[in-house]
Amino acid sequence: MNHAVAKPAVQRIPFLVGGEWRTGSAPALPAINPASGELLGEVGAAGPDDVDAAVRAAQAAQPAWAALRGHQRAALLQAIAAQIEQHAEALALTQTRENGKPLAESRQQAKSAAGIFRYYAAEIETFAAEVTPPRGDYVSMTSYEPLGVVAAITPWNSPLTMDAQKAAPALAAGNAVILKPSELTPQTSLALGRLCLEAGLPPGLLNVLPGSGADTGAALVQHPGVRMISFTGGTATGRAIARVAAERMIPACFELGGKSPQIVFADADVERALEGVLWGIFEAMGQSCVAGSRLFVQQALYPRFVEALVAKTRALRLGPPEDPHTQVGPLASEQRVQHVDTIVQAARRDGAQLLCGGARPAGAQFGRGAYYLPTILAGMRNDAAVCQTEIFGPVLCVLPFADEEDLVAQANHSEFGLACGIWSADFARAWRVARRIEAGTVWINTYKQLSITTPFGGYKQSGLGREKGRQGLLPYLQAKSIYLAT
Ligand code: NDP
Repeated sequence: MNHAVAKPAVQRIPFLVGGEWRTGSAPALPAINPASGELLGEVGAAGPDDVDAAVRAAQAAQPAWAALRGHQRAALLQAIAAQIEQHAEALALTQTRENGKPLAESRQQAKSAAGIFRYYAAEIETFAAEVTPPRGDYVSMTSYEPLGVVAAITPWNSPLTMDAQKAAPALAAGNAVILKPSELTPQTSLALGRLCLEAGLPPGLLNVLPGSGADTGAALVQHPGVRMISFTGGTATGRAIARVAAERMIPACFELGGKSPQIVFADADVERALEGVLWGIFEAMGQSCVAGSRLFVQQALYPRFVEALVAKTRALRLGPPEDPHTQVGPLASEQRVQHVDTIVQAARRDGAQLLCGGARPAGAQFGRGAYYLPTILAGMRNDAAVCQTEIFGPVLCVLPFADEEDLVAQANHSEFGLACGIWSADFARAWRVARRIEAGTVWINTYKQLSITTPFGGYKQSGLGREKGRQGLLPYLQAKSIYLAT
């Protein structure tokens, strides 16, 4: 007789292809809550046959969608927005349980996701073809048409907004979308897929394929039916995908990494600058593409500013993301903790001085959660590895600067160019420096102020192309010019 106790079956969460739910042919993904280390279940993953089925479903659904007028597509996007708003709390909880983001932030992002669908509904409803000036006896017009099937690949740090930022403009433009979320956050994207279906989006227009980047992601971008790639993630992955896009001669846009400078001049409003610098790096535990991870403080203010910043950082309330008193939560996974700690310890060996953090927090309440203390390092040069590598974690490098020339040279000495913060009471100087910094977004006396109305993207290795705003619609369209003889 066999006395072995059967393990309770883990429910495998299915994914969305052509309006139907399937569990997939690839090995399932574990779903782990980073706040507790608890295994919550598993999510089905897409193998090559599932990728092929999704592309076929998208190809079948797209022509009828593209044939609708802009205002008709807009009505559906508005319905999706309403559905997201109605289920915002559940969406926020799903994201927080997958990536550990404090619930208040996830709630904010669920609201933003709805706003993004509303914004692109308005854009497509008012988007017009152009009549171009004739140079002969003809009428010439340029209209914009969808590309067909779009592969949208997103990272784990903010899937609620990243998914919406790709799906909303791509759908508005008349494409079908295949969304490949990160292995860490597939359920958030699956929830969006379900809400779109419930809102009445025809099956096949939004498919969600969980799976690893190396397998599912790679198979998707190489599929001949995919006509455009929209990618957000690390620069190395972006480069690998760009090679595929180049080989296949299909358009692609890239939102990549950063190592953004925060610049504090001696005449800055110190209290506001302290808050801006603190949250610029430690909100979301530095797991944000625009995290202000290099701090430059003018020499005269440096000792006082850094001392106050360290005190504020030590006082941050670290805890479970669902606790309303928590200010900063866990990292997205245990692997992320190990990654961050490896970089911090290497920097210390290279001579960096640890001003605070640099370890896991002590205390039973942190259990097996993926926690790490907000960390500040000083005493290294801007060309040190820790100041040049994107850590994507709660680590701030602080550096002094002498004057404007010295500052601009140091701030621009980075392969990245995503964002920058400038804190100064001298408006003319802030403006001058803003124009000289190589970055896609510059904030003056504020930080992480983002809006769907305003284009976003990177200089240098931080990306190619822009998302958001009217410019964010254009990568999902191709121009067609027609001449009519008169
Ligand atoms: P990755 O580059 O590791 O992954 C991003 C996505 O790409 C994931 O879904 C991943 O799948 C997938 N992927 C990996 N390899 C391939 C491949 N060969 N073909 C197709 N898809 C692939 O980034 P992270 O998820 O670790 O996210 C962090 C990075 O994202 C940081 O560098 C950050 O700066 C950047 N980012 C940029 C933003 C911006 O707007 N500029 C915004 C947010 C983040 P899987 O993970 O499942 O293996």
